[in-house]
Amino acid sequence: MSLDDRLSTELAEIAAAGLSRRRRVLASPCGRIAAVDGREMLNFASNDYLGLAGDPGLARAMADGALAWGAGSGAAHLVSGHLEPHEALEQELAAFTGFPRTLTFSTGYLANLAVTPTLAGRGDAVFADKLNHASLIDAMQLAKANGADVQRYPHNDVGALKRLLAASTARNKLIVTDAVFSMDGDLAPLPALLALAERFDAWLVIDDAHGFGVLGAQGRGSLAHFNLPTSPRILLMGTLGKAAGVGGAFVAGSATAIDYLLNKARSYIFTTAAPPAVACALRASLQRIAGGEALRRQLFANVARLRSGVATLPWTLPASITAIQPLIVGDNQATLDLAQALWSRGLWVPAIRPPTVPRGTARLRICLSAAHTPDDIDRLVATLKELA
Ligand code: PMP
Repeated sequence: MSLDDRLSTELAEIAAAGLSRRRRVLASPCGRIAAVDGREMLNFASNDYLGLAGDPGLARAMADGALAWGAGSGAAHLVSGHLEPHEALEQELAAFTGFPRTLTFSTGYLANLAVTPTLAGRGDAVFADKLNHASLIDAMQLAKANGADVQRYPHNDVGALKRLLAASTARNKLIVTDAVFSMDGDLAPLPALLALAERFDAWLVIDDAHGFGVLGAQGRGSLAHFNLPTSPRILLMGTLGKAAGVGGAFVAGSATAIDYLLNKARSYIFTTAAPPAVACALRASLQRIAGGEALRRQLFANVARLRSGVATLPWTLPASITAIQPLIVGDNQATLDLAQALWSRGLWVPAIRPPTVPRGTARLRICLSAAHTPDDIDRLVATLKELA
């Protein structure tokens, strides 16, 4: 069988299992309405939690940035690609998060790949939540390839984690967790995890992709939500393509930890720096996030409205205070059918199936935004009731 035939066979199997992936082409900027195939869809699919992705002020900052600094950075940060806007953004992110120093990356995926495998190798141990994001899982696999002992603990199970830490004789220990779990919207018990990190002299690596900009005072993220101080044993990753509405990511930490990543992290060193105009847009976005209380109020009002609206429906709505509100249907085909029925009524809510989520927990992943109006939420709730 040729390679092509083999791939075709596997693709046919994926299709037969109802697990084919496809993309939709948007004929409009990211926003509450997405133009797809000549139709206007109400968008519950994006991570644009504050509605900033299509914001004209940020687009202007990016356009002005491109005119001032050019289209591309031209090289990796450590070669000649680190321009003044990149440097200013890192300093502003440090001031905003309260950490001594930050490092920016082109994507959150790359930022996560930078942290765990760089800090954990032979003689070290990684303790990772079972439901961590795919990018943290890949980072964990790289740490394993570097010789680290890797263990996964049941989701948010502080007791199980404590037993693993107590039994470990590793030199460096890293606890690695999402702050907001991307498929359920629930929070990690960060106060308990930080206490364990202190007790067992471990690092705490936090992925705040879905908390940054959304949770805590001024949208400073999940640590602020829990009123936790910054700590030299925390490395905080935040993405900048979700609530921040642009793209990229940062890692915040102690000056030493960040300097170490800058010197050693392969996904920082061996890739071209993001275009400087992206950093210009992000500097404007940071201002909008810090002053964005009204946007967050709108988002949380939408969350409350949706949750009370769907409370009586036959599907499970896990506890989530965040913009991610999954309705767990269970069966793959039933979930697809529901998403298709919503789609045909002008509502875009993605169906998420295994392997992205555990088998038997296929779901509609409703993502809310400050851009949604109360009428948008009511329309979604009314349609779900009709379909139930
Ligand atoms: N971590 C989590 C929890 C995420 O949900 C995502 C994005 N889906 C990432 C990391 C990766 O971020 P990015 O999209 O910027 O690569």
